[in-house]
Amino acid sequence: MIGVLGGTFDPIHSGHLRPALDCFQALGLEEIRLVPLNVAVHRAPPVASSAQRLAMLEAAIAGQPGFVADPRELERPGGSYTYDTLISLRAELGGERPLCLLIGADAFAGFLGWHRPADILGLAHLVVMRRPGASEALDPALESFCSGRLRGRAGDLAETPAGRILFQSVTQIDVSATRVRELIRRGLSPRWLLPDAVISIIAAEGLYR
Ligand code: ATP
Repeated sequence: MIGVLGGTFDPIHSGHLRPALDCFQALGLEEIRLVPLNVAVHRAPPVASSAQRLAMLEAAIAGQPGFVADPRELERPGGSYTYDTLISLRAELGGERPLCLLIGADAFAGFLGWHRPADILGLAHLVVMRRPGASEALDPALESFCSGRLRGRAGDLAETPAGRILFQSVTQIDVSATRVRELIRRGLSPRWLLPDAVISIIAAEGLYR
């Protein structure tokens, strides 16, 4: 099984990295593709450039077996839709290997507003990671979208290439990229909320001041 974690990664931080590693280990993934988005569809544009966000991501995961920086959205012009990314991953990996799209609970709450949500489930499983501050309750439309698709065990995802939803408990790390940027803007240290290698790039590039 291959995991996919998309994000702005502006910058990548421990709230991405440790939960991704938890999923990697709990689900027995062969690989996790970390996919920085190019043009945000649902949010303000990133502060750091594509090249800077990719460099920070590569520095963060250097030496971690199975973690792969995947620049495919940065190479694709226009809005970054997860559906398109999964189509392109399927073209590379074939239709049979289980794909697990990892998303934080805050992102999952808005999932039905994404481009072609049902078709996304046709291409991948969804693994929802709890996140501090994100509500556990699902709205009725999302609840009914989940019914029939929910599974309780990681092993259930390996049985089929796509279509199932799993709530995965992960280390709860109350950090967001917004908070990291805000600390730097105020001249405060973000140390230990993200890897030192990423902090070095932020300092060298003068980012987020
Ligand atoms: P920002 O503060 O700029 O909105 P962010 O910290 O939420 O950014 P993103 O790059 O937008 O980071 O997040 C990418 C994915 O990682 C999303 O699915 C999000 O829910 C998840 N994620 C981010 N931070 C955490 C965290 N602390 N715990 C669990 N999941 C997280």
